[in-house]
Amino acid sequence: MAERSTRNKEPRELTVSDLQVLTPNMLRISLTGADLQDFPEGQESGYVKLMLEENGEIALRTYTIREFDFDAKVLHLDFMLHADGGPASAWAMDAEVGSKVSVVGPGAKKLVDFGADWFLIAGDMTALPAVSVNIEQLPENARGYVAIEVISEEDIQELPVPEGVEIHWVVNPHSERKRFPLLEKVKEFDFLEGKPSMWIAAEFHTSRAIRRYLKLEKGVQRDEIYASSYWHLGLSDDQHKVAKQSDKD
Ligand SMILES: Cc1cc2nc3c(=O)[nH]c(=O)nc-3n(C[C@H](O)[C@H](O)[C@H](O)COP(=O)(O)OP(=O)(O)OC[C@H]3O[C@@H](n4cnc5c(N)ncnc54)[C@H](O)[C@@H]3O)c2cc1C
Repeated sequence: MAERSTRNKEPRELTVSDLQVLTPNMLRISLTGADLQDFPEGQESGYVKLMLEENGEIALRTYTIREFDFDAKVLHLDFMLHADGGPASAWAMDAEVGSKVSVVGPGAKKLVDFGADWFLIAGDMTALPAVSVNIEQLPENARGYVAIEVISEEDIQELPVPEGVEIHWVVNPHSERKRFPLLEKVKEFDFLEGKPSMWIAAEFHTSRAIRRYLKLEKGVQRDEIYASSYWHLGLSDDQHKVAKQSDKD
């Protein structure tokens, strides 16, 4: 156990083996390398931290394990591309087969409680990889709702859901601090019978607005919801972590 947790913190040096444009603003980058030999199986929805260089220092950026092909030892990450000069997005935009990157991880999986009576999953494009993994693992008889915010119609992906689950796409080209179309969509959902499992991940303000609505207005209990902020409008991820902590406090 101790050995594994140490290994999770050691950088793994990887090489880009493939790039696939999934939609205009989403790029899948596949990584390989001898350092994946002992990367554990079944960690999809967990994350790795990319070690990137920014102004001569190491910047860590978090990306979801969309898929790990255990036999071929290939790690697939989906990058939402944004032109704000962040080191991760910039690295992804410039990446080509043969590009190098070091990652640490894997970190904890982010899954709904599959034993719940019904599900509510909401996220933006940064959460789409994790949302996709969650959907793939839902039981066949699952009931509930999925809401996903994308930048454009063309960013909508084909995601098969169980028959009892409704999937809704919300197109929002500009994130804002005051207007939350993803929250408006979530407000349309009628709560179902029984114990829910809710999963929310998006931009800081959107995620906080949805979490507050569900907890304060709908009485959702702490153990029924995972709500996380995956990025912060106008802040780099390092500044975002500080904002996240003070919000928690
Ligand atoms: C657990 C977890 C899993 C994540 N998984 C993924 C994933 O699989 N795929 C993915 O794309 N992202 C994912 N993210 C989000 C990603 O880590 C952040 O978007 C990160 O800030 C990107 O780093 P950067 O270097 O590109 O930009 P930063 O240096 O952090 O920020 C630079 C500027 O870009 C802006 N910015 C950052 N992200 C976005 C964005 N998505 N859209 C518009 N503007 C942005 C910031 O507000 C800032 O102004 C995840 C985050 C967490 C916490």
